[in-house]
Amino acid sequence: MSHVFPRHTKASTPVAVGGDGCYIIDSNGKKYFDGSGGAAVSCLGHSDPDVTAAIKGQVDHIAFAHTGFFTSEPAEQLADLLIEHAPGKLDRVYFVSGGSEAMEAALKLARQYFLEKGETSRHRVIARRQSYHGNTLGALATGGNQWRREPFAPLMIETSHISPCYEYRGRADDETAVEYGQRVANELETEIQRLGAENVMAFVAEPVVGATAGAVTPVEGYFKRIREICDHYGILLILDEVMCGMGRTGSLFACEQDDIAPDILAIAKGLGAGYQPIGAMLCTSEIYEAIENGSGFFQHGHTYIGHPTACAASLAVLKKLTGGLVDQVHPLGDKLDATLREAFGQHPHVGDIRGRGLFRGIEIVEDRESKTPFDTKRGVNKALKKAAFEAGLICYPMGGTIDGVKGDHILLAPPFIMEDQHISEITDKLQTAFKAVF
Ligand code: PMP
Repeated sequence: MSHVFPRHTKASTPVAVGGDGCYIIDSNGKKYFDGSGGAAVSCLGHSDPDVTAAIKGQVDHIAFAHTGFFTSEPAEQLADLLIEHAPGKLDRVYFVSGGSEAMEAALKLARQYFLEKGETSRHRVIARRQSYHGNTLGALATGGNQWRREPFAPLMIETSHISPCYEYRGRADDETAVEYGQRVANELETEIQRLGAENVMAFVAEPVVGATAGAVTPVEGYFKRIREICDHYGILLILDEVMCGMGRTGSLFACEQDDIAPDILAIAKGLGAGYQPIGAMLCTSEIYEAIENGSGFFQHGHTYIGHPTACAASLAVLKKLTGGLVDQVHPLGDKLDATLREAFGQHPHVGDIRGRGLFRGIEIVEDRESKTPFDTKRGVNKALKKAAFEAGLICYPMGGTIDGVKGDHILLAPPFIMEDQHISEITDKLQTAFKAVF
């Protein structure tokens, strides 16, 4: 019997014993192509010598020193490099250990910022129904994923949820993509007016939606309108790039492609590429200084903030990403997209193929014409995950009710180090899985 807690750990769960580039190897010697980087984590694959050397080097010097007493060279250098590449006016960094922690820090920072400014009634958060922002209580309250929220509802802060920008299901036949984007963005304004702007502190969104819906990209102009509304009402824009950031969509930060910048940004996953657990919250100096010149310190903290070994690993990752690796993401992503369309574009159970860079989603439907999803009881996404896994491909499945619609999706987020031949390997193995399930 395994004493390890996660619910998926069963007697049949393979034991991961090795990593080789894009592959994970189990204790029986079976190799799996990591087509989703776990959950969009492993952007450098599993055996990067520079990252492991950076970790060893740091541990040889000092593995950990508490930020209550010390800073560390890797934390300082990592912050400098992040800020050198960060969009807009983001120029302060707060390191945490993962995505949920980054989101909690973002929410608390937003609240404290308004307290320091004397706008004490600003506490409400608006987010979107199709979203996942983490599993800790604040982040969970912000996300729109109903089945995750429901059991814990009495413990959570009240959050408003507006429509996502989900063109495949949301756009009406008589409107253009741009008109659709403006319509759903304007729901933010309606909700702010309903709540009273003086009560709202932040709007939270993932630029490209990950786990809840499978790489849903915004339509042109959507985020520009969102930014405009936030500015007009003095509301902070918090972007959650925990999954879609760190080069995943072809630019280091996903929001760059929508030509906007947030006031607060959350990143994780690809930041440490899985070699160490690390996340970060970036904010503007305007926010930072309101706190610095007010009460003097951000009323938050965890034991492992700015962990030196995690920062050393992340610095090695970021040097690779900014040293040319991210430039490969768009061309590889375009090829992956084209190959997926060729293989699955006409499949009777594929409703939509979407995404950006190496962040690709496939929405599975029972009927293409009517976009009718499968009954969730059939567990199509789980069956596909299992069949793909048996064929030696790791892909990230998702199902459930998203924005009122039951659905199944699979997400692909392969390592940036993959090569052209891996694209057909992904597609071939996915086709094997589709044949097994349908
Ligand atoms: N935000 C987004 C967009 C995510 O995809 C996730 C993780 N799937 C999180 C937050 C939470 O990150 P973590 O699991 O590292 O706490």
